[in-house]
Amino acid sequence: MNKIYNCNLLNSGLHFTPDNLRFCCAPAYWGPNIDSKNPGEKDVFLALMNKRTNAIQQMRNHIAPDGCLGCIYLKEYDLDSSNTPKNIIEIQSDKPKISNIVINHYKQCDCHCIYCTQSNYLKKIVTIPQKSDYYDLYPIIKSFYNEDLIDTQNLRVEFQGGSLAILEEFHDLVDIFLQHGIKEIQFFTNGIKYLPEIVEASNQAHVDIICSLDSGTRETFKRIKIVDKFNDVINNLKKYRKKSKNLQIFSKYILLEGINDNIEELSKYLEASENFGADIAQLDMDFKKVMINKGVHYDVPKHFYKLYDFFKEQCSKMKIRPFIWEYIQKVLDKGYFE
Ligand code: SF4
Ligand code: SF4
Repeated sequence: MNKIYNCNLLNSGLHFTPDNLRFCCAPAYWGPNIDSKNPGEKDVFLALMNKRTNAIQQMRNHIAPDGCLGCIYLKEYDLDSSNTPKNIIEIQSDKPKISNIVINHYKQCDCHCIYCTQSNYLKKIVTIPQKSDYYDLYPIIKSFYNEDLIDTQNLRVEFQGGSLAILEEFHDLVDIFLQHGIKEIQFFTNGIKYLPEIVEASNQAHVDIICSLDSGTRETFKRIKIVDKFNDVINNLKKYRKKSKNLQIFSKYILLEGINDNIEELSKYLEASENFGADIAQLDMDFKKVMINKGVHYDVPKHFYKLYDFFKEQCSKMKIRPFIWEYIQKVLDKGYFE
């Protein structure tokens, strides 16, 4: 038997977090990675490339790299089998190109959502752009371009966060992607500060804005995000809608018990979303309750079902596309999460 392993995420991805630089976003398995505090070599780009090359080599020799064994994305192929894709070895060429980048190496924010999963990192509300507390990304991305390791035709970039408005190198990063002809960028933004880079990107690429409004009124917004910026967010989203060429806006609402879990607030949120021109409305539940605390039982409150029905009805009347994550739908169907 002539077996190898392959992982498409390892071949094509880069995932930058505060703690490490890695290739995939597999939730329970980090795979090969370098520690952001101790990259091992002076040149972080080289250290990252060495990890990647070694891991691909190991997979070719049918060895699962550190942190990969058990991961659902680790695929085993028998080279003698007719079912194995003919190009599997080509896919694992020495330097497969990167087509998916997730930027998540900074955690500063200009608000402080009560449900934020980054609360370990968020110490205070910050309003002035600054460097990431962990490492600079721009020189690393530049090296990947210089070494011709980016699949410029198919590259998709996701800016997560923190708040984009607080990242000093945000402008330079968007700029380098635009200069190299990027076609797809997702911006997760709280919408508090208007960012002309988003409009500029939409003139060239398909752009998604994902903004969690979570409220339909100034008072509830302030209760959830601590800052009094509801009107600024609405105005900025309207401005993006008006000025951007190729833009899709996701308006999100995370249900929080005792705070925004009522028809009145949800209804005002949908009106506001229609008003600023949302394409898609997403109704979510508190991530900490239905995802992170695995093993902790969470009963879906009975009134959430009415809210989900109301949400779907209203969206169809308003011509906004409703969106519910598959895992949330499963939790709703089951009635609990654990
Ligand atoms: S096999 Fe899993 S853990 Fe390893 S690089 Fe691929 S996605 Fe990441
Ligand atoms: S906008 Fe995002 S990063 Fe900022 S506090 Fe809210 S959830 Fe956290």
